[in-house]
Amino acid sequence: MQKVFLIFVITLFVVGCGNDHPEHREAALELEEAVHIPDFDREQAFEYLLAQTEFGPRNPGSDGHQQCLQFLTFELQQFADAVNQQSFRHTGYEGRSYQMTNIIASFNSEATNRILLGAHWDTRPRAEHDPDPEKRDQPILGANDGASGVAVLLELARMFSKNPPPIGVDIILFDGEDYGREGDLDQYLLGAKHFARNKPAGYRPRFGIIIDMVGDKEARFPREANSMQYAPWVVDLIWNTARSLDILHFEDRRGPSIYDDHIPLNESGIPTALIIDAELVGADAADERRRYWHTTMDTPEQCSPESLGAVGDVLTELIYRQPS
Ligand SMILES: [Zn+2]
Repeated sequence: MQKVFLIFVITLFVVGCGNDHPEHREAALELEEAVHIPDFDREQAFEYLLAQTEFGPRNPGSDGHQQCLQFLTFELQQFADAVNQQSFRHTGYEGRSYQMTNIIASFNSEATNRILLGAHWDTRPRAEHDPDPEKRDQPILGANDGASGVAVLLELARMFSKNPPPIGVDIILFDGEDYGREGDLDQYLLGAKHFARNKPAGYRPRFGIIIDMVGDKEARFPREANSMQYAPWVVDLIWNTARSLDILHFEDRRGPSIYDDHIPLNESGIPTALIIDAELVGADAADERRRYWHTTMDTPEQCSPESLGAVGDVLTELIYRQPS
């Protein structure tokens, strides 16, 4: 099914003249402006979530990280005008050196009117909130915290290749978001910080949207507080679009402040909002099933195609309604 919305520009004129006159109908049809909104395939998005988790944990330095980098790059190369890897070295705990890579896929590369969509593709190297103390040093699978945001963006990329968006879009998969020990903010958001420091001169997307932890079966997204501070109009754009589609996962209330990849982007001058299931952060959600953040229980069973679809539908609607 495809959604087509018609805007009747001269409805009043036609009504005023009697609307069954054939000439008038013809004139009206010529002036109709059709906005074609493609369908977001939530099942395919879920397949992309599973494909990432099949590599196992994807924390920097792991085999899964290396393999997933190749997979994501290969997939995006099929869909985008250009895919660039932005690699850098990072010195982490115990002096360990890591190769980290942001993957940047551009669509409609010539357009100067652009937006940025981002998610982190790395997963956390330690499950410090696991109820089992034995497992707290293990890396997590990151089905929701990592794979879910990337899954939505890969499916959008596939959509863009078939239905070119009216504006330029840059999808950036950030590395090293979740490396730091709790509270050690300097060791978080490593890829987004590197991108913000090294972005090309003159790169000024109109706005950015970061998505993180968007896959839980009962996902809900309050308006994230830092986004409301830095980019209130982007928050309005997202949540108003969700309301127009009756997508109830997006809640019209102020949520907590979350430190995520949108912070360095905002600080570098790109107004960027974060969509995140904020209640999960801290692993103390009201529903016991949802207390799996930064544990080994962050697995595909916690997630659903419907939640990926809710976010995918909102982003699709918002993007294809942008003035070119
Ligand atoms: Zn995390």
